[in-house]
Amino acid sequence: MNAPERVARQFGTELRDRLVTLRRDIHRHPELSLAERDTTSRLVAALADVGVTDVHRIGETGAVARVAGRSRSAPVVALRGDIDALPIQEATELPFASTVPGVMHACGHDVHASWAVGAAALLAADPADGDVLVVLQPAEEIGQGALAVLASGALDEARAIFGGHVDRRFAVGQVVADDGPLAASADTFTIEIMGAGAHAARPHEARDPIVALAAVVTALQSIVARRLNPATPGVVTVGTLSAGTAANIIPDRARATGTIRAVDSESRALMHDELRRVTESVASGLGTEARVTIDRGPPPVVNPGQQAAWAREAASAVVGRENVVPLGFLNLAAEDFSNYLERIPGCFLRIGARESGGPVIPAHSPAFFPAEDSLFVGAAVLAECARVASRSLR
Ligand SMILES: [Zn+2]
Ligand SMILES: [Zn+2]
Repeated sequence: MNAPERVARQFGTELRDRLVTLRRDIHRHPELSLAERDTTSRLVAALADVGVTDVHRIGETGAVARVAGRSRSAPVVALRGDIDALPIQEATELPFASTVPGVMHACGHDVHASWAVGAAALLAADPADGDVLVVLQPAEEIGQGALAVLASGALDEARAIFGGHVDRRFAVGQVVADDGPLAASADTFTIEIMGAGAHAARPHEARDPIVALAAVVTALQSIVARRLNPATPGVVTVGTLSAGTAANIIPDRARATGTIRAVDSESRALMHDELRRVTESVASGLGTEARVTIDRGPPPVVNPGQQAAWAREAASAVVGRENVVPLGFLNLAAEDFSNYLERIPGCFLRIGARESGGPVIPAHSPAFFPAEDSLFVGAAVLAECARVASRSLR
């Protein structure tokens, strides 16, 4: 028997069927960030079915459940499952594909939500030393959910936190629990160039913001190429450009938006400073003025060593040491789990989700789906993370 089959068997037929039904149900009825009302109701009902009824709502679409530990005085640990879907038209042809046009669980949060319930069920049957707080987190995709959960105070007692993401670059049964950086910060910038408009045939009477913005976009490429230490990954991408109303008019304004990705706070600060400096100096050199605004998104995900070691110990116990594998590459996507890690030490895991012989499909693609057996691996690994951390913190 291979690792995923062995793990699935530990759940027993009833719980296994319950989780498969729950996950398919959530997948069929995806809800966007901050609209996860039915999703949360379904999950809270599923928690009650496995005997977990101590549930506090967070805002209108989130919840935190408490699973009692063996001792009231033992350390409290948190597990997080995010629950929101994406504005994508599903193209998987799964029998339980989305029934909502233009909305899809393309990031696997249907599985993450089901992990939370599965882990709660396992911990209700075989508790950790201390209580475990199981977070049903809304709005991960818009970077707001983790902050809302933290602001509610629901995790004030938590001394460690664990969460995971399905990943089809890894086979079902494989688990990654590396320490160090494994996802980037994601900050959004807006550049506005203010010039002076004129007739397109009389450019000497204008201060052309389009020419200035074009020069700025080119100059921005030098930040990663020439300013950032080449040993540190980073991204500056311009995603939109807009200006003008007609072919024979020089407009008075031009606008660009984009994203900055970094894996540590020093390179993040450097890229912010350089974006402002390069933009302002290039714009002014071309007779225009620049306004730069940067909206800070989630910080980088950096797993601390001790908590990652506990996660590897837990994963080894569930899938075997040979199936605990290194990430092997850095991912510059963002994940708002990093907001928890700024306040609570913990570990963010990748849980293999590619069925044997299946293709690698990136998350956020209309064809994305995690293999069903990743349901059991993720739930069992997270439950064991809670047990190991609670015991080790005593
Ligand atoms: Zn996503
Ligand atoms: Zn995701």
